[in-house]
Amino acid sequence: MPVKKEKTKMLKQNPVERIKNFNEVALGYDKKSAIAEAQRCLFCKNKPCVAGCPVNIDIPAFIKLIKEEKFLDAWKKIKEENYLPAICGRVCPQEDQCEAACTMGKIGEPVGIGRLERFAADFAYSKESAKEISANTKKRKKVAIVGSGPAGLSAAGALAEAGFGVTVFEALHLPGGVLAYGIPEFRLPKSIVAKEVENLSAAGVEFRYGYVIGKTKKISQLFEEGFSAVFIGIGAGLPRFMGIPGENLNGVYSANEFLTRVNLMKAYKFPEFVTPVKEVKHVAVVGGGNVAMDAARCALRLGANNVYNIYRRTRKEMPAREEEIENAKEEGVKFNFLVNPVELKGDKEWNVVKMKCAKMRLGEPDDSGRRRPVEIPGEFEYYDVDTVIIAIGTSANPLLPSTIPELKLNKRGYVEVNPETLETSMENVYAGGDIVTGTATVISAMNAGKTAAKSIIKKLK
Ligand code: FAD
Ligand code: SF4
Repeated sequence: MPVKKEKTKMLKQNPVERIKNFNEVALGYDKKSAIAEAQRCLFCKNKPCVAGCPVNIDIPAFIKLIKEEKFLDAWKKIKEENYLPAICGRVCPQEDQCEAACTMGKIGEPVGIGRLERFAADFAYSKESAKEISANTKKRKKVAIVGSGPAGLSAAGALAEAGFGVTVFEALHLPGGVLAYGIPEFRLPKSIVAKEVENLSAAGVEFRYGYVIGKTKKISQLFEEGFSAVFIGIGAGLPRFMGIPGENLNGVYSANEFLTRVNLMKAYKFPEFVTPVKEVKHVAVVGGGNVAMDAARCALRLGANNVYNIYRRTRKEMPAREEEIENAKEEGVKFNFLVNPVELKGDKEWNVVKMKCAKMRLGEPDDSGRRRPVEIPGEFEYYDVDTVIIAIGTSANPLLPSTIPELKLNKRGYVEVNPETLETSMENVYAGGDIVTGTATVISAMNAGKTAAKSIIKKLK
């Protein structure tokens, strides 16, 4: 039978319905669709997809197990390299990684590797028997993890598996980092993150919330309390602003604040939860990445009539995942390219009411290889708005590093590490994820956690 050129369809919530709720948009494969998709794999001997995967999952091996209906074994195969498959199957940019390298992509659509990964993990989690890490009762030395994002969680998993006593210190009241406070429920249900954390707790990892390391406790105190090593996975969540007049008006949010209020603090369940956002009706979201797409789609679900995405380049240069841009478009986000805000105007009560944008054109490529946006003198566009959400990136938060002068940082405030071991300038202090690389991806943060754990295990043995 000839191989099907198109990916097996995955059901999604209808756009008209889904903008009225925060439930997951993509509904995943059932067994029949997963097997059909697994049958599209050519099981290439040279495995180009594995080379495209940042954590080198044996992709054809797990796909073969799905094809043979050994779903739990498929999940176990993925877990050999990836601690968070239910999460990565949902949010990894597979189109730029494993699927970009897939041989099937040359004759049609690549194999839906991410969808199959998600299927295997969801199948396993639907079974009570799925316990990924066995609790190791013979605790060796103690390791402290600072931050419970994907970098911290995967470091914790690897260390617990190797028999270390692991404690995760998290500043917020819930674990997950961006997975909990940034990526919305409709892309990544929080029950999935909770399940991964539950598994780590079952394996003996201790979680302490409301601990801002650097303030509540210093790194030096952790060593005094008997921790033999520390892993810093604090992300890079300090919002950046545009520096234009009017940015301090009411109704102007950083994407971080907006998404934290909506996702972590459940503003969409007001009054059941008491941290609302201002009523949003005409919203401009500035930026072209995943964060901008998430904020725009949250605004629609909060009842906005108009959500404008404002981006200074064109659709081609947008860094957001293609799938999420399509979802946003289907849901009614209005895309405005080659425009850049230059001023926000307010009413007498200091509420934002208008956004002035300069029109742009594309010039020569910049350092990132993308064509640089250049302002067209004297040409402007105006938008009537009551809410502006700024999603133009984040930087390293100086709070923790500023309390440890011996920790070497680069010019932009990110922690410097030995690229192989991820050890910092301080002995037995390791770092990884966004606090080292700047904002990257869930899988790269996870990989950093795993790499640091390996180095710690080697060093402390
Ligand atoms: P984080 O996830 O930022 O976690 C750091 C944790 O450390 C946080 O919980 C924080 O509270 C805690 N912390 C900070 N300081 C301290 C302290 N002093 N003491 C104790 N705890 C502290 N990537 C993808 O691959 N796909 C996507 O679709 C995607 N979408 C995204 C959408 C949004 C809205 C955002 C913001 C990012 C998105 N990313 C996506 C990027 C990805 O989420 C990050 O690269 C990844 O989460 C980084 O992981 P991390 O563990 O380094 O840090
Ligand atoms: Fe299967 Fe594609 Fe990997 Fe080949 S490259 S083994 S077709 S997933």
